[in-house]
Amino acid sequence: MFRSSPQHTDTYYAATSREWQVERPALAESMTADVCVVGAGFFGLYCALELARAGKKVVVLEASRVGWGASGRNGGQMIIGFPCGMQRLKGVMGQERAREMFDESRRAVQQIRGLMADERIDCDLVEGHLEVAVLPRRVADLTDWIEECETEWGYRRLQFVDKAELPKFLNSSRYQAGIIDPEGAHIHPLKYVLGLARAVEAAGVRIFEQSRVEGYEEGPGSVTVRVAGGMAVKCDQLVLGANAYVDKVERKLAARMLPVGTFIGVTEVLGESACRSLIPHNHAVYDNQFILEYFRTTADHRLLFGGKCTYLGGTPLNLPEAMKTNILRAFPSLKTAKMDYAWGGHIDITMRRMPDWGRRDDRIFWAQGFCGHGLVPTRVAATLVTEAMQGRTERLDWFQGIVNPPFPGGERLGGLMQAVGMGWYRVRDLV
Ligand SMILES: Cc1cc2nc3c(=O)[nH]c(=O)nc-3n(C[C@H](O)[C@H](O)[C@H](O)COP(=O)(O)OP(=O)(O)OC[C@H]3O[C@@H](n4cnc5c(N)ncnc54)[C@H](O)[C@@H]3O)c2cc1C
Repeated sequence: MFRSSPQHTDTYYAATSREWQVERPALAESMTADVCVVGAGFFGLYCALELARAGKKVVVLEASRVGWGASGRNGGQMIIGFPCGMQRLKGVMGQERAREMFDESRRAVQQIRGLMADERIDCDLVEGHLEVAVLPRRVADLTDWIEECETEWGYRRLQFVDKAELPKFLNSSRYQAGIIDPEGAHIHPLKYVLGLARAVEAAGVRIFEQSRVEGYEEGPGSVTVRVAGGMAVKCDQLVLGANAYVDKVERKLAARMLPVGTFIGVTEVLGESACRSLIPHNHAVYDNQFILEYFRTTADHRLLFGGKCTYLGGTPLNLPEAMKTNILRAFPSLKTAKMDYAWGGHIDITMRRMPDWGRRDDRIFWAQGFCGHGLVPTRVAATLVTEAMQGRTERLDWFQGIVNPPFPGGERLGGLMQAVGMGWYRVRDLV
C-alpha cells in the first residue's frame, strides 16, 4: 500500500501546489559529505537545515519527491505535545524533563511559524485548534487535560467550551464539548514542506530526488550510503528520516515500527459561508476518540476530513464514499456534497505509541514513532538529534531510555495483532 512512486500522490495538496513543485535531479555521481540525510520529509529537512546552518556539508537523498511521504499529505494540524501523551513521557523521563519537552513542543510551534515568516512560506496558516469529545463520558478527559496542563506543564492558555457554547465554534450535534488551544493551527503541509526544502537549499544543502537509499555500511571513521543505480555518499554521520518506509534501509528500526494506513477525503468547493457555518472560526478540529477523526476547511473553502485506519495494508473500498460516510456523521447537511479527492498515507506507530528517537555511536541518528502526530514533534526531534550530532547528547539520550519492543511476527502478524487490539478500542469508541 502507498509504495513509493516517482511523483506525488494525487492529493488535494498536490493539485493546489503545482507552482511550488520543483523537480530536483537524481544523484548522478558518488560524493562525500559531512552528513547524509535519508528522506526529505519534515524531520530530514529540519535536520538538514540545522546542520547546514552550523556549517556542515549536508546531502539529502529522497527516494521520490520532496514531501512525498506523510509530510506532504497529512491533515495539516499543528498540535503541541506528543502522541504518547505527557503522562507516559513523564513515566520514562521524570517530571522535570517531560516539562522541558512540553516547552520544546511549544517552542517548536513558534519555530515553525518563524520559519514561515522568515522564509516567506505562505502555506495557508490558520491559527487555533479545537479538540472535541464525541462521547459524554470523555468530556471529563478534556477538563482533566486542562487541569494537567495548568498544574504540571505550566500551560494556561486552553479554553473549555461546553455543549451550549460549542455551536459558536463547531456546528455539529455529534460533539459534546471542546477545548480551544490558541497555539495550535493548521496549514497546507505540502506547500510548507516544499517551502522548507527551498530554505534548506538556500542554506547550502543539496537535495537529490528519485534517489532511493538501499542500505549503508559503516567503516572506520565513515559511513557509505548506497543509492539505487550504483552511486554512493560517503559521510561522517547519517540521519535516517525515511519514517514508515525505513524497512529496506535499517531493519532493526523497521521491526519496532508498524506502518499503518490512514485516510483523508476532501469535498468539492462548498463556498466560504457554508464552511463558516460548519466551523465558524476555521479551527483545526480533532476528536478524542481512540480511532480519531480530524477535519478543517481549506483556503479554497472545502472540507478536509481525515480518519480511518488500516493495519493490514488495504485501502477501504470506494475510498471517497467511505470518507463521505464519516463526514456525514459529523455534518449531515453535506449529504449532496461531492468528494473531489481521497487518499491514504502511512503513519509510523510503535507498540506503545512512544517516540523512538536515538543514536548509535555518534554516527547513525534517527527519529520515528510519530504515530500520526508528527508535524510539531518532528521539529522537536530534529532539535534533539542535531544537538546530539554536534556533541550535546544529553537530551536525545532521555529518549534512548524508552524501550520500543519489536512487533512480534513483523509487519504482517504485527498488523493483524494491532487490528484485533484496535477492534476492542473501536467498541469502546461507541459507548
Ligand atoms: C494521512 C495522514 C494524516 C496525518 N495528519 C497529521 C496531522 O494532521 N498532524 C500531525 O501532527 N501529523 C499528522 N500526520 C503525521 C505526520 O504527517 C508525520 O508524523 C510526519 O510527516 C513524519 O515526517 P517524517 O519526515 O518523519 O516522514 P515522511 O514525511 O514520511 O518522510 C519520509 C521520506 O523518506 C523518503 N524515503 C523513504 N524511504 C527512502 C529511501 N530508502 N531512500 C530515500 N528516501 C526514502 C520518503 O519518500 C519520504 O519522502 C499524518 C500522517 C498521515 C499519513
